[in-house]
Amino acid sequence: MKKIMLDYTLVEIRGLLADLPAFRSKQLYKWLNLDAEYSTMSNIALDLRAKLADEYIARPAQIVDVLTAKDGTRKYLFRLSDGNIVEGVSMVYEHGTTLCLSTQVGCRMGCAFCASGRDGLVRNMSSGEMLGEVIAVNKYLGGTCDGRAVTNLVLMGMGEPLDNYDHVLKFIRTVSAPESLNIGQRNISLSTCGLVPEILRLAEEGLGVNLTISLHATTDVTRRKNMPVAKTYSIDRLISAAKYYFDKTGRRVIYEYVLLKGENMSPADAANLARITRGYPSHVNLIMLNASGALKNTACTPAEARAFFCALAEAGVSVTIRRSVGAEIEGACGQLRRKFVGDLTAT
Ligand code: SF4
Repeated sequence: MKKIMLDYTLVEIRGLLADLPAFRSKQLYKWLNLDAEYSTMSNIALDLRAKLADEYIARPAQIVDVLTAKDGTRKYLFRLSDGNIVEGVSMVYEHGTTLCLSTQVGCRMGCAFCASGRDGLVRNMSSGEMLGEVIAVNKYLGGTCDGRAVTNLVLMGMGEPLDNYDHVLKFIRTVSAPESLNIGQRNISLSTCGLVPEILRLAEEGLGVNLTISLHATTDVTRRKNMPVAKTYSIDRLISAAKYYFDKTGRRVIYEYVLLKGENMSPADAANLARITRGYPSHVNLIMLNASGALKNTACTPAEARAFFCALAEAGVSVTIRRSVGAEIEGACGQLRRKFVGDLTAT
């Protein structure tokens, strides 16, 4: 079975191809980061290209479909080399373009409101496959290694990143390296449903990535209804881990909070959120469901969302609110992947 060349760092490729001069390895690695097939790597000898093509996959995540929303948001379907399909979403902001990428095929966390986890985990993605998603979209949007079109990353697509810890860590280290796409770790956000031991471990890694936690409830009883992970880790343990992450990294912690009418929007919830976020730099993103989506029975009105927002703001919580534009809530470690993609038309 062929291996994925992007699973190896430049240093590792130099070891693999020990006969190759260092500058050739660098040229090869640059081609890989430009989403090039071996046939187009014009400064690499033909016989070496043929040999590499026999043994290694150059483009491990190929874009097979793109859907574009009116505001420029794009949803990508990637085919992995074994035929599995994962997805990503790019969003254009004033400060640049953010890509939300997948870290697993499927997910075993089983959150009730998430389509990604409905069929369980198929397999982990490798670091090279995650890198391949970024490289493919960067090229699709007209970027290069030096002039990147993708400026920010969020690990919020299909999968729980911290359930694929080693590959995700290697991916973060590789994509932020100067010889790869050089995306600053401060421009990378990792979103988790709340795997406490892995959050504590991540805090020790010496990385500068942002941590986003899918909270979605302020009591363990409510959280356990929708998120099985809450049966293992209480909110108190989760918040302690979040504070530890801030202490070790200096990075503000972001909480994602889907507004579920009748479930998590009471005055008591506002008071609980104020307590949860007090005493360390943190921020709450409130997410409104689309009133026409699959969970319309729990979608709140703009006025109800506003009232909850005001209650939080008055309690001193740093908070923003955004409306889901997707037809339904479909992925959620704060993910809600479809929220980004409203009114899609194929390009
Ligand atoms: S919300 Fe995230 S952790 Fe939960 S099942 Fe979906 S992808 Fe997995």
